[in-house]
Amino acid sequence: MHTKYHRLITAEALQSRFSPTALEIIIAANLGQDALRGQIGHDEFHFDSNAFAASREYIERNRALIRLALEGGDGTSAQKAFGRLTHTAQDFYAHSNYVTRWLARFPDNGWPPPEEIDPFDGSLLDGPGLRSGKLYYPLEALSFIPFLKKIVLPLLPRDSHAWMNLDTPEQGPKFPYAIAAAIKRTRYEYEETIRSLSDEMVLLFCR
Ligand SMILES: [Zn+2]
Repeated sequence: MHTKYHRLITAEALQSRFSPTALEIIIAANLGQDALRGQIGHDEFHFDSNAFAASREYIERNRALIRLALEGGDGTSAQKAFGRLTHTAQDFYAHSNYVTRWLARFPDNGWPPPEEIDPFDGSLLDGPGLRSGKLYYPLEALSFIPFLKKIVLPLLPRDSHAWMNLDTPEQGPKFPYAIAAAIKRTRYEYEETIRSLSDEMVLLFCR
């Protein structure tokens, strides 16, 4: 997703849980994952190219880092790890066909409102039909430049990131569902993360 939407999702999901300072650290770490060094060779940061297992593992690795940092009294490092974790979790709905498959259960003119999306449907999360967009470099890189996108898109396969992503509203009516699912998922990741932490650790994490 584009920076603007990662920020919006993270703030919407977490502003009642974290102090403003903590929230800014989380958002900065979340957005940092889309820097160039986090784009190439890091499918697991973004659920790209069907890297489902690696992306889930990356989420859990960051969750473990959060606990480790808090055990050492380091709230800031925990918040940064949580920012990275939320980026990956949010990208799942923008880069995979989860939203498309969830909506496929309804007639085209009978989609429920975006807020009703269930981001944890087990049959879709683990089903054999789950896919995410592949990055066909170098051509794919040109699709990120707005005026070149129109030229490049027809040259890229349908299973490319360029065709499949729900990164911006320009991608059509499925985009608000990716946003709504990502907000719910971000809240879930927060609950999942604090579940095994002591009250003191949660205080340090959120302040
Ligand atoms: Zn990303």
